[in-house]
Amino acid sequence: MDFNLLENAFDYILDAVQQLQGKKPSKKQIKYGLVHLWSGIELLLKKRLMDEDWALIFHNMNKANKKALHSGEFYSVKFDKALERLKEKCEIDIGDHFEVLDAIRNERNKLEHFQISLSKPAVISRLVAAWGFILDFTVSHIDLDSDHTAEKLFEKIKDKMIAHEGFISERVKSIQPELRKIKAERYPYTIIDCPICFQDALILKGETCECLFCKADLDWKSAMEKWIILKEGYHRYHEKDRWNDPFIFECPECEYEALYQFEDGSTAPPDPAAICFHCGVMIPSQEW
Ligand SMILES: [Zn+2]
Ligand SMILES: [Zn+2]
Repeated sequence: MDFNLLENAFDYILDAVQQLQGKKPSKKQIKYGLVHLWSGIELLLKKRLMDEDWALIFHNMNKANKKALHSGEFYSVKFDKALERLKEKCEIDIGDHFEVLDAIRNERNKLEHFQISLSKPAVISRLVAAWGFILDFTVSHIDLDSDHTAEKLFEKIKDKMIAHEGFISERVKSIQPELRKIKAERYPYTIIDCPICFQDALILKGETCECLFCKADLDWKSAMEKWIILKEGYHRYHEKDRWNDPFIFECPECEYEALYQFEDGSTAPPDPAAICFHCGVMIPSQEW
């Protein structure tokens, strides 16, 4: 059975890559770039499930039937469920890629209801991070040899991604002098990876946070919320949902509920264990 899931997946991804390739993509191009990127990713997951068992792409497997499959009139499996089934039925765990995919999914859902504005560096960063997943997943779990059209599309995406990856590495290079300067000055600046563009360039200095890479300018509260969503998951975003397993604590310095325990290696300098999003204070591991 051939439903061209794979060709459709790559078609969407190629469109996303092309929407975003101009010097200055418009709001509309950014919107469709992200929406189509997400559609492509979802289809890619479904394609792998389909290879295992066509019933797996039905949201409700009890209602899986060939007639609905052929007509396309059925609710298909959603992202979380698809990941669950990939793990259970195909022994595939997307591991670290989850963070990036989940962030893109959230953005995509917001796009449906709101106008959001992302800078080109932010959106290309996401695209390149998503490409890391698409490439890994396709090479490891998808049989390209039996579908030449899909294979050609995949090669085309690969070619075009070189320019996007180049854009990111150029930009990473260009912000290095400023990052080095900030690192040399150390306190009170801490640099963490930006929850918008994922680059290690968000300067946390208390009250406001600025990303050197994507130029995001966030107040402390929204930086903290975006960080929680990215690192702890969207389901832990609401305060009442995390009362029995808290990870935001009262800051001994400013007394705001804004102290977060960072993982070792996720901040620089000097790898403190806890940082307050509100006042920017860092508390070394030994003292926390
Ligand atoms: Zn950023
Ligand atoms: Zn504080």
